[in-house]
Amino acid sequence: MTLDAEGKMQFLFSLRSKGVTNARVLGAMEKVDRGAFVRGHFAARAYDDMPLPIACGQTISQPSVVGLMTQALDVQPRDTVLEIGTGSGYQAAVLSHLARRVYTIDRHRTLSRGAEALFTGMGLHNITVIAGDGSFGLPDQAPFDRILVTAAAEDPPGPLLAQLKVGGIMVVPVGQSDAVQSLIKVTRAADGLHYDELLPVRFVPLVEGMAQD
Ligand code: SAH
Repeated sequence: MTLDAEGKMQFLFSLRSKGVTNARVLGAMEKVDRGAFVRGHFAARAYDDMPLPIACGQTISQPSVVGLMTQALDVQPRDTVLEIGTGSGYQAAVLSHLARRVYTIDRHRTLSRGAEALFTGMGLHNITVIAGDGSFGLPDQAPFDRILVTAAAEDPPGPLLAQLKVGGIMVVPVGQSDAVQSLIKVTRAADGLHYDELLPVRFVPLVEGMAQD
């Protein structure tokens, strides 16, 4: 479902009312049709501010959380971004409008393939989709300016922190998988890592190893 002008205004208004105020982030979210990333009868709810189920028992995050995470990541136009947890591909599509290049990994091949097909159809050519275990990052392409983890880890994964440039930012939900987690922003400065707690969130867990499907 694509939105008419009034629907778009309402979507942007609801994002702003939840604290997504950065103009570049709002502009990127305006360009990406969330309806294309949600299947079947859920597409009618695509612009409601709620998480929705996707294939493989996973979820697409609610738009305001996507907006707040993207805003916290402070992506610059020349940045190379790594996303762990492609899921539907929605978050990667938003990032693709803000960064030079986006790498996104998922442990479900079905999700990787689905997202890749959507990106091709939308002409988003600066996204590379990888089917793999993102807990170890992507050493071949490291280091990254920005890393976004969209599944909850018990601690910020060490291999990912090691792949963050000096001056880089990582945003990751941290906490027990079945409880409310904290969204953490990690900044790598010359003198080490700095941690800021942003807001409570709820994500599916980061699971090690490839999935069967
Ligand atoms: N960003 C997604 C939503 C992510 S849901 C979107 O915009 O739709 C979390 C995703 O993390 C799931 O698809 C799950 O398969 C993936 N995931 C969990 N553990 C992983 C791991 N170790 N490596 C890669 N992906 C993982």
